[in-house]
Amino acid sequence: MEPEPWSLQKLLVERGVSRRTFLKFCSGMAAVLALPPSFGPRIARALATAPRIPLIWLEGQDCAGNTEGFLRASHPTAAEIILDTLSVNYHETIMAPAGTAAEKSRTDTMAAYPKGYIAVVEGAIPLADNGVYCAIGGQSFQSIVQQVCGNALATIAVGTCAFDGGLPGANGGPTGAIGVSQFVPNATVINLPGCPMNVQNLTATIVYYLTFNSFPATDSMGRPLFAYGQLLHDQCERRAHFDAGEYVLAWGDQGHRQGWCLYKMGCKGPETFANCPTARFNDRTSWPVKSGHGCVGCTMPAFWDQMSPFYRRLTNPPGFAVDVTADQVGLGLVGVVSGLTVLHGVASYARAHSSDGHEIVPTVEPLEPPEGGNGGHGAPPATPPGGPPVPPTGSAAPQSQGKEVS
Ligand code: SF4
Repeated sequence: MEPEPWSLQKLLVERGVSRRTFLKFCSGMAAVLALPPSFGPRIARALATAPRIPLIWLEGQDCAGNTEGFLRASHPTAAEIILDTLSVNYHETIMAPAGTAAEKSRTDTMAAYPKGYIAVVEGAIPLADNGVYCAIGGQSFQSIVQQVCGNALATIAVGTCAFDGGLPGANGGPTGAIGVSQFVPNATVINLPGCPMNVQNLTATIVYYLTFNSFPATDSMGRPLFAYGQLLHDQCERRAHFDAGEYVLAWGDQGHRQGWCLYKMGCKGPETFANCPTARFNDRTSWPVKSGHGCVGCTMPAFWDQMSPFYRRLTNPPGFAVDVTADQVGLGLVGVVSGLTVLHGVASYARAHSSDGHEIVPTVEPLEPPEGGNGGHGAPPATPPGGPPVPPTGSAAPQSQGKEVS
């Protein structure tokens, strides 16, 4: 008797995921991908009929934070939906087989689906001393990555370590750790940096592929524009406070309790491209700035080196005239709103005393609107009706902003 054909719909019903929940998930994916709501039904149709693409998930020098994020995804059981749409043939953390049987799952998948499976890489690849610092089943991680990614339909590098070496590669790390696209330059690599990456972006990337049979447009560093095409600063719910010159000056002060801008506490949002404010974490509950801590810029290249010290304030956020500091930017935007040059600093002075007695020294500076118009605010990826998003254009596009992967 012929086995019943695989059906996502049937599996979802078996697992208690209603049709309504599934459609809500598809609409949510359309929103994450910056697609019009009308794409929700199209995504639903595509997922319902998508072939089960095999997936091999590798872990190198990592903390498994991205795996944790993936497994914690729920509402509406996004992980289940994706796991059911894909065939996760190899994932050390969640697979049932161990030892030789586990390694066989990987090699069997590669042999059965040449150029037909998706590879996900989590963690950095150590090259020093012939890769001895990370080995699995007696084989160096670098040789496994070479084989798996070189033979894959595409590779998704999740997390900052897989992006550019991350923490193991910071400050000239001793293991010679690098990222996937540096190590396998000819492979198709989609980078989802972040520490950890936002699992919604992984889900959306896969959903995009299953819907359009191609991967989403990326910037010059291989980061999908739907997720990394806009400055975090421009999407932040505290932005109005930045524009108004309302800053947190000490942890727990009045401004902190009132949700003011964290720029002076070292927030790297003005230099970071990511969709954290809209995608959020933990089932879209929150993200670092919402919970009261500044952004550390973990989606940007070499962020451990380039963005630290994490509590030192930025001095020259990009997108403004080079001689304009971020302080002036914040004040300058007030000037833009009010129409013309004004004397500001009064706004800061009006809030000069926080509850902890910390006195704010008023800054009185003539304000001019920042050169270059909107101060480098990233335009959202254009989304033509009936088609996938296209890269943003103009000076704010991350191609011109980001630091190159070293
Ligand atoms: S500096 Fe940070 S907290 Fe302030 S508006 Fe920008 S991203 Fe938000």
